[in-house]
Amino acid sequence: MISREQSNTLYQESLGYFPGGVNSPVRAFKSVGGTPLFIEKGDGPYLWDADGNCFLDFCCSWGPLILGHNHPEIRERVIEAIHDGTSFGAPTRKENELAKLIIEHNPFVEKIRFVSSGTEAVMSAVRVARGFTGRNKILKFEGCYHGHVDYLLVKAGSGLVTFGESSSAGVPESFASETIVVGLNDEQAVREAFEQYGHELAAVLIEPIPANNGLLLQDRDFLVFLREITRQYETLLIFDEVISGFRVNFNGAAGYYNIAPDMVCYGKIIGGGLPVGCYGASKAIMSKVSPDGPVYQAGTLSGNPVAMSAGIGQLTELLKPGFYEELEAKTHRFVQRLQAYIDTYSLPMNVYHIGSIFWLNFSNRPVVRTAAEIDPESMRIFRKAYAEMLDRGIYFGPSGYEVGFISAVHTEEMLNEAAVKIGESLRIGHLE
Ligand SMILES: *Cc1c(COP(=O)(O)O)cnc(C)c1O
Repeated sequence: MISREQSNTLYQESLGYFPGGVNSPVRAFKSVGGTPLFIEKGDGPYLWDADGNCFLDFCCSWGPLILGHNHPEIRERVIEAIHDGTSFGAPTRKENELAKLIIEHNPFVEKIRFVSSGTEAVMSAVRVARGFTGRNKILKFEGCYHGHVDYLLVKAGSGLVTFGESSSAGVPESFASETIVVGLNDEQAVREAFEQYGHELAAVLIEPIPANNGLLLQDRDFLVFLREITRQYETLLIFDEVISGFRVNFNGAAGYYNIAPDMVCYGKIIGGGLPVGCYGASKAIMSKVSPDGPVYQAGTLSGNPVAMSAGIGQLTELLKPGFYEELEAKTHRFVQRLQAYIDTYSLPMNVYHIGSIFWLNFSNRPVVRTAAEIDPESMRIFRKAYAEMLDRGIYFGPSGYEVGFISAVHTEEMLNEAAVKIGESLRIGHLE
């Protein structure tokens, strides 16, 4: 077993400062057990914890680090920016630069607004959709995560088409009641929701590649159906691409599936590891945003020059020819290798990927498309395998519902070795 002495000491201290000892819940290792690792540093594809243990990192800060840790291009730009001060609360050249990188290469947004997190991006986009349409209700899907804003912390109620029930204490039912929640990949439920509430629906909000509750790959046909029905009812289609944006493609899932949403939200990768989010749409929709229009949205640190610099550094690298093709091919070979191990030992599970996002699926379905298809009992296996992986120097996000990410600096050789170590851990995880 790896030593967790230092992490333990730090955790005991942090328990006195923060709820659960952490500043974001999943970090607390509740679903895998044991002490959360306190991280000391990251470099390339590796992480080091406070006890000096080294791990090959498949969490990558939950997605932002598509170039790995401490990438020289990003580091240098951040250092250079800091020499000129950290925040001005006034426009800077760097906001233009990052916006230009995004808008010139993205057919789905004409104007954007920078914010400081994915939560803020989605929250603001929904406000704009409501302001633009003059409608209040939104439709979301069970199994999609959109950040921690009140009316999106909502789960499906009983019955096919119902208003959501709040999934967090502190969220008034009256907020949840503006949100309709239906299952993913369920055209019939969406159709019924539109029949009942279509003319009150400001927006349909979806992760086009749902990756926060397992990797729930949707049929392209379902996304096309959403595009058509929203158009028919003049409801806006919002793609929450906080994970998929710049991950599967420079244009995210919208580009991958070639489906044009009305609004897009980005986060994670766009900030190169610093806090940046953004939402964007056509000029007509964005004209509703203050100060041009009546929808208020603001931020003291929005467009922060240090964060912008990190984003510029990262997106510049991503635009290099062949970047995504290479990353996807590498991920595909890794997943195949891991699957071969799983098959050799006839483990009742599989692993699949889209772009450089992969997921360990503990069911016998080749691909899982809805949250309901995941058996919570199967997470026992992940929990057991997780400890084995840590012992072998492999770090995943500490929950079986979380996906894994491959970065540009994970080499073929590292991935070959990791496939065996992960395979062994999964085999042990399946032992009674
Ligand atoms: C991470 C995530 C968010 C929330 O972003 P934060 O930066 O954590 O606020 C929203 N939507 C999706 C799809 C995400 O993956």
